Amino acid sequence: MHPQKEPSFRESVDLMFNRAVALMDLAPGLEQKIRVCNATYTVRFGVRLRGEIRTFTGYRSVHSEHMEPVKGGIRFAPEVNQDEVEALAALMTYKCALVEAPFGGSKGGLCIDPREYEEHELERITRRFAYELAKRDMINPAQNVPAPDMGTGEREMAWIADQYQRMNTTDINGRACVTGKPLNAGGISGRVEATGRGVQYALREFFRHPKDVAAANLSGSLEGKRVIVQGLGNVGYHAAKFLSEEDGSIITGIIERDGALFSETGFDVEAVRNWIVAHGGVNGYPHGQYVANGAVVLEEACDILIPAAMEGVINLSNADRIKAPLIIEAANGPVTAGADEVLREKGCVIIPDMYANAGGVTVSYFEWVKNLSHIRFGRMQRRQEEARHQLVVDELEKLSSAMGNTWTLDGKFKERYLRGADELELVRSGLDDTMRIAYQAMSETWHARDDVEDLRTAAYLVSIDKVAKSYRAKGL
Ligand code: GLU
Repeated sequence: MHPQKEPSFRESVDLMFNRAVALMDLAPGLEQKIRVCNATYTVRFGVRLRGEIRTFTGYRSVHSEHMEPVKGGIRFAPEVNQDEVEALAALMTYKCALVEAPFGGSKGGLCIDPREYEEHELERITRRFAYELAKRDMINPAQNVPAPDMGTGEREMAWIADQYQRMNTTDINGRACVTGKPLNAGGISGRVEATGRGVQYALREFFRHPKDVAAANLSGSLEGKRVIVQGLGNVGYHAAKFLSEEDGSIITGIIERDGALFSETGFDVEAVRNWIVAHGGVNGYPHGQYVANGAVVLEEACDILIPAAMEGVINLSNADRIKAPLIIEAANGPVTAGADEVLREKGCVIIPDMYANAGGVTVSYFEWVKNLSHIRFGRMQRRQEEARHQLVVDELEKLSSAMGNTWTLDGKFKERYLRGADELELVRSGLDDTMRIAYQAMSETWHARDDVEDLRTAAYLVSIDKVAKSYRAKGL
């Protein structure tokens, strides 16, 4: 039976959690301890703007402190509410456990439409919010480390980091109080693209598992697959860009705030993104077909659907009309618990959010480590590595001349080999490994037991087991 009424986002997460827990043998009470949100702090603060005092409401929710610091983004959106922030914080707990980022789960939100404010106004609002949170250790490198989310990015993270550092001038690890910062403010290469990059790596790994591909009634690789993406924000844009430019997928649909674009022959993602930046939406884009009611494009035939915008966009009202055999949840919670059931019955395979969008927090972890170690990735080893590479090249060149130069080293190879890996390459390879290992754990669990019907349940099983183990190890 499908639930008649759509549950709230948090209830949806709880329902999915309960499905998995029913298959586990957890100590009595531990299941509840893991599921519930530990605390949510609500703050209302005033900022003097345009000659009047405006009051803003913000939240920071801590779901689980089985590991500290707790981690999770801060979202700026007009509809932010406690239920939503708690659901997102819970997903952070499971996400971090699944990809073995050593954090508990947290999330924050500020009720604001950032498009209504000038940059200097946003800076004052963000700094004041950061002050309120930092004052209560809800921004702190050892306790709670925010990051970007919907409506926030590098710019806001730089303000938050600076605000924390002004309040804690003697904290030598102050930069690690928030991740997703710009490179020149202690950020790491590849963080901006990380979530979209993670979606690409997740799909590549999925297509390396023929049994899973067959379960979605698909075959082959990402090459030529028709993809519809909802939301060309940071996550959707990078995912669609990498899939089309590097894997040969065809982006046939792009759904945005003001409508959607559809074309069987596919879009140039970069061009559409530039159009959106210049014109504020997709309407008027010279190629493909414009569909004013964008949501219906979710229901178009395609091979892969990537919801990369909001929670709850695939719900009981449209689930039965979704044709995609494979959905990858780049957003958090885009499929409601009710829709999940409808889709499962139809045989649709869903790569769940807690895995699919974990690229962001994975690279956040690298950034946090980089900040705490106070050194650029690879810098210490660089000289040593170069010397070793030089030895190998010298030996090969000696060999080549001893053989009368019947072969020589390719110049490009030599240059590339001598240079060694830079920070971006290290970040990408670390992310790729993480996405591969987590997928394998999930997929093995899916196939190992008859009662595990889908990847989402498998993901919950793997992550709840990890959280339970750390509670058992350290006590409550
Ligand atoms: N907001 C992102 C997420 O939902 C990133 C969180 C982080 O990097 O801490 O996963």
